[in-house]
Amino acid sequence: MNCQRLFIFFIIFLLIGCKDNKKPSLLVEIEKVSRLEGDIYYKHQAPTKNLMQLYPYEEETAGFFKITKEFFRCKGSPLNPERVDTSNLDNVKVYLDCVGPAKHSLPLINEKEGIYPVLLDILNYIQRKTKKRVVITCGHRCPKHNSYADTSNIAKTSKHMIGAEVDFYVQGLENSPLKVMDLIFDFYKEDSRYREIEEYERFIQYQKDTDVSTPPWHNKEIFVKLNQYDEGRDFNNRHPYPYICIQVLYDRSTKQKVSYTWEKAHRGYLQH
Ligand SMILES: [Zn+2]
Repeated sequence: MNCQRLFIFFIIFLLIGCKDNKKPSLLVEIEKVSRLEGDIYYKHQAPTKNLMQLYPYEEETAGFFKITKEFFRCKGSPLNPERVDTSNLDNVKVYLDCVGPAKHSLPLINEKEGIYPVLLDILNYIQRKTKKRVVITCGHRCPKHNSYADTSNIAKTSKHMIGAEVDFYVQGLENSPLKVMDLIFDFYKEDSRYREIEEYERFIQYQKDTDVSTPPWHNKEIFVKLNQYDEGRDFNNRHPYPYICIQVLYDRSTKQKVSYTWEKAHRGYLQH
């Protein structure tokens, strides 16, 4: 039976293969196209760039997404390789990164998941004023990612762990961090919640020793530090730009100081 089928297919194949594919030749002589070098038959218009209209929700931030607490989620990932600290050969330490932001929350601040809202207000103000994108390199760091990303002593009590600190730079103003710093001062002068309140409007420079060469500034609510090209480099700040770090000192809503505690850092967030 199979042989018969094969034979039939073979015959069909031969018939198709033998079909005369030759088309009758067209006896039409095609005229050759000829033109001189300077001849232009069709003038074309130079293209103009049409900018896309912004959606109403984009207008405030000139097309950039408004910065929300989501931008602050921990940047840890279990896919990051282990880091070995060999600075003390008698005590070599191996650090593993955290399980990632899908498996743990942001800090719980006043019983709500998030970060201190003044950080959002300042970063959105900068984005609105400059019409340039604010790049958050480090928002919340859970304790595991914190020790993975920065093994320095000063990082052991970092406010990144309690949602009260942010590291960032501005795209397009990467090399002008002082301009961004001025905008932070302007925010306190322009925002009606702070206007003409001396302790918020007036920034003073911190005179004690720090880990940066530029003396940081502070008012009642925030502490602002400028990290130069070779300062403050950690796992989250591996870019080549200077960056600004803002820490929250005071919570206006509860009228309390914001300070790091082990309890807040290690127990102040949810793990799924
Ligand atoms: Zn984490």
